[in-house]
Amino acid sequence: MTLHQDGVGEPDELDRLWTPHRMAYIRGENKPADASEGECPFCRIPHTDDEQSLVVRRGELVYAVLNLYPYAPGHLLVCPYRHIADYTETTDAEAAEIADLTRAAMRTVRAASGAAGFNLGMNQGEIAGAGIAAHLHQHVVPRWPGDQNFMPIIGRTKTLPELLADTRALLAERWSAHPPVDAG
Ligand SMILES: [Zn+2]
Repeated sequence: MTLHQDGVGEPDELDRLWTPHRMAYIRGENKPADASEGECPFCRIPHTDDEQSLVVRRGELVYAVLNLYPYAPGHLLVCPYRHIADYTETTDAEAAEIADLTRAAMRTVRAASGAAGFNLGMNQGEIAGAGIAAHLHQHVVPRWPGDQNFMPIIGRTKTLPELLADTRALLAERWSAHPPVDAG
């Protein structure tokens, strides 16, 4: 069976080392033709089904979605719904909710997976490495010692689309059932 997975992300040349190559097929988002909202996968994703688009959490102004092209299992993108490119264009409320969802994403991924560390960051502009530069998004990338897969058995036996679907379900359930509270 070939499972097709829609979603959002920035295609790159990295091999997904934990991914079995057999039968893995992702209907990837290629780079948008231009910087308009109509071409923007980050604008389209919130209007689609969470399971299909890998949305983990919807906030009021901001949402969190699994990267279709993860650097590590559980690699999330925190994005405003509004089509803005630059961090300086955020309203106070959007900046605050990006921070809130980033913290909650870290807590949820850490609780679910035991991640030992994280890389957080926004690439601003194509020259800085943003693949979809027109729509602001913050990367939340969990790290493990040796960057081992936190679901090694699943990772060895399932295709990447299946792994993404499982990871989405795990994190969405965990985020809802155990709302990450501010540790103060
Ligand atoms: Zn957009």
